[in-house]
Amino acid sequence: MNVFLVLAAFLAVSFAFPIQYEMFEGHQVLRIVPQTKEQLEHLLAIESSGILVDFWIEPRQVGKAAHLRVTPQQHDDVLAYLKKHEMEHTIYIENLRTLVERESKELAERVPFNAGDDPSKITLNQYHTLADILAYMNSVATANPTLASIVNIGMSYQKQALTAIKIGNPGTNKPAVWIDGGIHAREWITTATVLYIINELTTKQSQYSKLLSTIDVYLMPVVNADGYTYTFTNDRMWRKTRSGPRSGCYGVDPNRNWNFKWGVAGSSNNPCSETYDGPSPFSEVEPKQVADFLTANKANLKAYFNLHSYSEDWMYPFGWAAHTYPADVNKLKAISAQAVAAIQAVNGEKFQYGSITDIVYPASGSTIDFTNAVLGIDYSFGMELRPNGDASNGFVLPPSQIIAGASETWAGLQVVLNAVANGQ
Ligand SMILES: [Zn+2]
Repeated sequence: MNVFLVLAAFLAVSFAFPIQYEMFEGHQVLRIVPQTKEQLEHLLAIESSGILVDFWIEPRQVGKAAHLRVTPQQHDDVLAYLKKHEMEHTIYIENLRTLVERESKELAERVPFNAGDDPSKITLNQYHTLADILAYMNSVATANPTLASIVNIGMSYQKQALTAIKIGNPGTNKPAVWIDGGIHAREWITTATVLYIINELTTKQSQYSKLLSTIDVYLMPVVNADGYTYTFTNDRMWRKTRSGPRSGCYGVDPNRNWNFKWGVAGSSNNPCSETYDGPSPFSEVEPKQVADFLTANKANLKAYFNLHSYSEDWMYPFGWAAHTYPADVNKLKAISAQAVAAIQAVNGEKFQYGSITDIVYPASGSTIDFTNAVLGIDYSFGMELRPNGDASNGFVLPPSQIIAGASETWAGLQVVLNAVANGQ
């Protein structure tokens, strides 16, 4: 065979994304609204009945919708379980394959970012692979040597680079802020949002010069590098890390693995669960190395943000127990109200705010409980980005919504960044 034909075929395969959409044929996402406390408890306990489920939105409160992905193999068992406990459901996504197939075609048409490209070549209205993202961050640092520098956080379980970028004008002992995305692999809008912020801070220097003369901003687009890569190569709906196997299953929930009140609530000790908290706190090298960096820099860190999707929420600690708050919770409430107002002013999206357990569900071993309680970073916030619970795409958020979602998120974050810059 002609060597050029072989090369052309190889390039076609490596640039097209073999997202395996066929595997989602017949997967449905159900919307279930528990009407009583008993129903809520039954829904939360569904895994103990032996059905390992994938909640897209976990059961929260009576009257609030949960989203549950059901494979064709699980379908009859899940429906029987719901019927037994007299819970009704509606269909949120009829066939997940349709959404992932469309997304796969959009990805295949994206503009890749190659090593050495000019940073302006990044397409912020598209999703990108880890390789693209690392190349982009390197280009940003190279093009802005006094403003930006690469921060090596370490290596993932599968020896991929864990990389952050520090953005700030020269200065010593400046207050600092950390923003990360991609801790849950499939939550692609969070990674895209961090790239958007990197671009904002490095291409609009007059707009942000005062801010960046006062504070440094650390941005890490992909905390869970292995899981993120796996969503491109194997399973678009992967959430956890890729360590293991343990009991035949891979991965730990990296937002249940932090070493504060580990394993207390809202996590599972079953390695096959989506919320498996791991064999021990910080068993996972990705959260461990991020925590090590944050710990080493805690004297300067004044705010920490951990981005998730979806459901449009702005959360402060704590997640490990209900009605448990940091001592300065009134300060957190006040700035959260300002932040969600700033978000709403951009596109009209209404984020709700409160502590993790107030508005979502108990979840111990999370990032922000650790950064607040152990490191003393008062402004520790978690966010659930677009879409809200009504839009019927969930994690498969169309790339046409990236800019709108990222810009509203950035407006909210800036409320806190400006407060830090003003010493508040
Ligand atoms: Zn998440």
